[in-house]
Amino acid sequence: MQLLDGKKAGQAIRDEIRLQVAQRLAEGKKQPHLAAILIGHNGASATYVGAKVKACEEAGIHSTLLHYESDLPEHELLEKIESLNNDTEVDGILVQLPLPKQIRETAVIHAIDPKKDVDGFHPVNQGLLMQGQPGFIPATPYGIILLLKQYGVETAGKEAVVIGRSNIVGRPMSVLLSQPGETGNCTVTLCHSKTKNLAEHIRRADIVVAALGQPEFVKADMIKPGSIVIDVGITRVENPSKKSGFELKGDVDFSSVAPLCSWITPVPGGVGPMTIAALLQNTLQACLQKDL
Ligand code: NAD
Repeated sequence: MQLLDGKKAGQAIRDEIRLQVAQRLAEGKKQPHLAAILIGHNGASATYVGAKVKACEEAGIHSTLLHYESDLPEHELLEKIESLNNDTEVDGILVQLPLPKQIRETAVIHAIDPKKDVDGFHPVNQGLLMQGQPGFIPATPYGIILLLKQYGVETAGKEAVVIGRSNIVGRPMSVLLSQPGETGNCTVTLCHSKTKNLAEHIRRADIVVAALGQPEFVKADMIKPGSIVIDVGITRVENPSKKSGFELKGDVDFSSVAPLCSWITPVPGGVGPMTIAALLQNTLQACLQKDL
C-alpha cells in the first residue's frame, strides 16, 4: 500500500504557485486576490475558510475574508457578490457552504461571475466541464485529479466507482474520470443513496472515490485487492478524549481497507489539503486570465 499524501502534494503545488506569484509581482503585475465570504458561526465552515485564507497568505495571494451574521438577508449577500463581481481588484470569489436557511444556495452560486467562480460551482463552469472545455473545475474533484497526476497514478481503462452525486464533488468527479486524457479514460459508475447492491459495485472497482459523508462506510470486504481508494469524506465524530471534543473521520474504514489497496488517501491529510491547493490554482488562473 502506498499513501497518496495530499499534504505533501498540496504543498508542492502551493510552493509552485508562490513562485509564480512572486514572479508576477517582480514584473510589476497585479497580485491575485481571493474574496471569501463566511456566514454564521459553523465551526467546520470557519475552520475551512480560515485554512483557505491562511494558504492564500502563504502563497502570496491577497485574501479578504468577509464574515456576516447568520441572519444576513439573501438580498444583502447578493448585493455584496455583485459589488465583488464589479471590483476589478478581486479575481476570485468563494462563498463557504452550507448557507443559512433564508439564503438559497442556487441564487448565490448563480450570482457569482463565472470568470471569478474559483469554486467552479456556477452552471457555466459546470457546463464547460461537461464538454471538456477549459473553465473552473470544482476544487475538490480538481484537487483529486492533481493528486493522481502528482503521483503518476494510471487511470486509463480502469473501472471507477464514485459514491455520491453532489454537484460539487461526486458528479464532477465522475465526469473528470470519464474524460479523455491523463487521469481520465475510466469506465465510471456513479453510485448514490438509491443505488442497489452498492457493495457489489464497489467490489468491482479499480478506483473508488468515496464522497457520501458517512464515516467509515467503506469496509475491507467491499474492496477489490490492489484498488485505488480516494476518501473525500470529512465528518466530525464526537470523541471526548480529544481536546476539541471530536475527531475527523473519512468515508473509508482506513485501518482495515488500507492494507488491501495499491494507493489510498488518508483523512486528514489526503483530499482536504488538495482541495485548498486546487482553490489557489483556480485563483491564480482567474488572475492570469485578466492578463490576456
Ligand atoms: P452531499 O451530502 O451533498 O452528497 C452526499 C451524496 O452521497 C449524495 O449524492 C447521496 O446520494 C450520497 N449518499 C449518501 N448516503 C449514501 C449511502 N448510504 N449510499 C450511497 N450513497 C449515499 O455531500 P458532499 O458535499 O458531496 O460531500 C460528501 C463528503 O465529502 C462529506 O463528508 C463532506 O464533508 C466531504 N467533503 C470533503 C471535502 C474535502 O475537501 N475533503 C470537500 C467537500 C466535501
